Amino acid sequence: MHIKIENLNKIYPNGNYAIKDLTLDIPNGMFGLLGPNGAGKSTLMRILVTLMRPSNGKVTFNEYDLAKNRKQIRSMLGYLPQDFSFFSKLKTYEFLDYTARLAGLKNGSVRKNAVERMLEEVGLYEARDRNANKLSGGMKRRLGIAQALINDPQVIIVDEPTTGLDPEERIRFRNLLSNISTRDVVIILSTHIVGDISSTCDNMALLNRGELAFAGSPEQFLKKAEGCVWQIQVSESEYLEINEKYPVISTIPIEKGWEVQVVTNDINGYSGVQITPNLEHAYVYFMENSLNQWTNT
Ligand code: ADP
Repeated sequence: MHIKIENLNKIYPNGNYAIKDLTLDIPNGMFGLLGPNGAGKSTLMRILVTLMRPSNGKVTFNEYDLAKNRKQIRSMLGYLPQDFSFFSKLKTYEFLDYTARLAGLKNGSVRKNAVERMLEEVGLYEARDRNANKLSGGMKRRLGIAQALINDPQVIIVDEPTTGLDPEERIRFRNLLSNISTRDVVIILSTHIVGDISSTCDNMALLNRGELAFAGSPEQFLKKAEGCVWQIQVSESEYLEINEKYPVISTIPIEKGWEVQVVTNDINGYSGVQITPNLEHAYVYFMENSLNQWTNT
């Protein structure tokens, strides 16, 4: 599976320009779509899952054109929206059985097999008779991914995957997705949390104000920020100055002031050491650069 997005634009009726001339290739595997609130991620997701049409531009899923083959594309999709919720009265098993029916699994015994297999896969088999509404946040999220996967989709889209999950559930959910990504599928994770874009993502893109700020592998993302992350020891007064001039990533109190990490090409006169960038540093680096691009033009 390969999704190709070419010169995509979305302008809402009120004039909000949410996606600006976006060209992006999304190959097989896990793809992280990162960006701050308002970047255009949900707009792009809604376009990809055929809930909304773009203003112009072209999107293809393999040989299928999103403008012409909406039905075929819908049958390839599994979607877990951010605000996923379910009918309160249903038990876990009943809920998944219901969504399997909606997804077109009409044959009773085929459906039963599929539902049981999926409950096993997401670790909810033991909870199959519990009221779906009473599951923990992490379990609900796993039930959400189960309904998105029940029809063996080739494209799986998950919006804000870890919202509301505690760290343990976060890891479990991420592992579940990375097990699936070994199949011939595209998984798109849309998130504003840098930590969701871990090394489990094969490729990623950063959106900012509807524009593409970066596309490539997480390794390339880190590499671009090399040489631009500094650790500096400063006094109280220098700290205030630094904070004005540079994006400060972290601040640790030391005996005579502060040890700060900043993202910048040049620390002009301060004495500091360069450190290896992590994803958060790289995120700030790209956000700053794309912001500077706008202020300079
Ligand atoms: P993200 O998911 O990255 O937070 P969105 O796609 O929700 O970003 O929003 C991108 C931009 O489009 C924002 O400026 C937002 O205010 C605007 N927007 C989103 N939905 C609508 C809508 N239905 N009508 C008008 N503007 C919208």
